[in-house]
Amino acid sequence: MSERIPCINPRCNCTAARDKFPNSDEIICGKCFRALPEAVRQEHRRFWREIRKWDRRIARTSDDIKIDRMRAIRDRVSRHLSWHWVREIKTFFLAPEKPAGLDTFLEEMGL
Ligand SMILES: [Zn+2]
Repeated sequence: MSERIPCINPRCNCTAARDKFPNSDEIICGKCFRALPEAVRQEHRRFWREIRKWDRRIARTSDDIKIDRMRAIRDRVSRHLSWHWVREIKTFFLAPEKPAGLDTFLEEMGL
């Protein structure tokens, strides 16, 4: 049986299948995503577009040095995505009681 990941909105009961998001501990459901401000949604999509773009480029390249360089860029975008997720998306649903958490998060990420 597959594990379920809950939506980050504590007032939402949506879950997603763990196997669909192997690298995530949290998800946001479509309904809650649409509740976010437009600018936040655009930013989130932009990070994902960048990550997918670099993934495609990495997949097409056979030069190890280039791959390393592209992975570094991809990882940086990915960190920005995680940061944006916590600062803009999570706090949107969890604030104002819990505006903190970013420091702990950045520590865990090793930033
Ligand atoms: Zn939700």
